[in-house]
Parts: sequence; C-alpha cells; structure tokens
Amino acid sequence: YPDPQQSNLKSVLATQNKVSKKQILLGNGSDEVLDLIFRAFCEPKVDNVITLPPTYGMYGVLANLNNIENREVLLSSDFQPKVEQILEVVDACSKILFLCSPNNPSGNSFSDDAVVKLLENFKGLVVIDEAYIDFSEKESWLNRLSDYPNLIITQTLSKAFGLAGIRLGICYASEEIIAVLNKIKPPYNVNELTQQRALERLSEPEKIKGEISSIIEQRVKLLEVLVDVNFVEKIYPTEANFILIKVDDANKRYDELIAKGIVIRNRTTQPLCENTLRLTIGTEEENKKLIEVLKQL
Ligand SMILES: *Cc1c(COP(=O)(O)O)cnc(C)c1O
Repeated sequence: YPDPQQSNLKSVLATQNKVSKKQILLGNGSDEVLDLIFRAFCEPKVDNVITLPPTYGMYGVLANLNNIENREVLLSSDFQPKVEQILEVVDACSKILFLCSPNNPSGNSFSDDAVVKLLENFKGLVVIDEAYIDFSEKESWLNRLSDYPNLIITQTLSKAFGLAGIRLGICYASEEIIAVLNKIKPPYNVNELTQQRALERLSEPEKIKGEISSIIEQRVKLLEVLVDVNFVEKIYPTEANFILIKVDDANKRYDELIAKGIVIRNRTTQPLCENTLRLTIGTEEENKKLIEVLKQL
C-alpha cells in the first residue's frame, strides 16, 4: 500500500514552498481536492457556492454532483471579479468562493486588490485555483496563506509540470482546514507510482523552469503572429500556457483548424466568450504548424 499521508512528497513540497507539512493535502488531481472541499464544507440542498464564469467547468460540475447551489456572478468584460456584485449575492449559506487565477479560459490573473477585498469580506472559504500560476509572473498567494485563515490554494502537477497522467493535485491551507479535509479523504487516494514519479519530477526544478521558459517563448512568438492574422479580432492578455482570441466566426475557424489536424478549444458558448477560441501553446514544432495554418487561412 502507498503511504496514506504521502510524507516524503509533502516534505519536499513543504520545503520548496515554505509551508508546514500540516498545511498540505494531496489528491488524485486537483479535481479530487476540489471535490473534498465541497464535501467537507457544504451541506447538500442547504449551502451554496459562488463561481465566476467564464471559468473552469469543474466547479459547477462538482456543485451539481454534491447537490450544492452554484451562484454564478459573471466576470467583468475584462475578466475581473465584480467584487460588489459578488458580495451582494452572498448569504449565510454561501460557504465557498472559487477564484481561478490565472483564469481558465481567459488567461488573465485577478487583480490583487479584488482578491484581497474578497478575502477580507467574504465570510466563507476562498479557494484560489492556481493551476496555471507557474506561467505567470505574479507571485503565488501561498505567500499570504498565514494572513488569511479562510484561504485555500490549489495547485497541480498537470500543467507546468506536464504530469496530468499521474493525477497529483495539491491543496494548501491552514492546519485546521487541512485537518478537516484529511479526515474525509480516502486513505489511498494518491497511489505509490504517482508519489514516486512526483518526487522525481520535483527534484529537477531547473529543468522545469527551462520548460516553462520555452513555453513562454513560444507564447510570445504566437502572440506576435496572431496580431497579423486577419480573422483575429482580439487577443486577450494571457498569463497561462494558452491564449484566448476573438475571431470573426469561431465555429468556422474551429472546423478549418480541425480539417488541418489541429485541435483547439472553441469557447464560443461560454458567457462573455462569443466567437472566442483558446489556443494552447504546444511544442515548438506544433507551434510552427499552427502558425503556418493560421497564415494559410
Ligand atoms: C486543468 C485544471 C485543473 C485540474 O487539474 P488536475 O490536477 O488535472 O485535476 C484545475 N483547475 C484548473 C483551472 C484547470 O485548468
């Protein structure tokens, strides 16, 4: 059996991130961590959570699965949280507010000012989902963990660390919050192979840094090309490993790219995202192919 407390892995994460091991909970991907947070802190059919579309779809899926009302407050047109409106929809049963920063699918991160106001005024737990933090120049909210007892931060090895297949999600919070989550987690939720592979990966921080730099380099290149593509109407600022663009006709452009063997995300049905496409930065070779095809179109 694997170590149910993943002690070796937590030691490395604790040292690298300057937190105590008791402030870490690991899960089978951050999706499991998010589910545990719902199950620990929300009463089905009674409580509600606040999410800010357009954002990561799993918050809404997990709210439904757990029979928790999901109160949605749209982001502003520049994809920032509307603090006043959020605090207006809150009631005594609002237990969790989900902030995804950098946000998926818009790519921007939320202003410090908005996040601080929400941390200070929202009476429930604030989850900051930092799945894409390694691609951003902004600091992680981890540095502020001790300032806000209601703050939970989730991270993952699925994006910048390139290990979506091993399923390792990380949750940082106060010792009190982690102790509650620990009580309800399945004992062997992180298998031994995952723990070993994660340890290996965490022991090569310089290599990971290099990989992230090259993704950011590719992002810069792609952004430069997109400016000159005639059907691209808007390029949204990004701090993630993807770029959201507004085009003339998202469905048409999506199909054209599929026909050329390139699969991107069509986000046109998401609120505030009419006619948008999300392009993930690939390898240098994939990027070249995408650029070639965009120019042809
Ligand atoms: C991909 C993603 C996750 C899921 O990560 P896993 O650890 O693979 O479950 C969580 N949040 C956001 C915003 C994501 O884009």
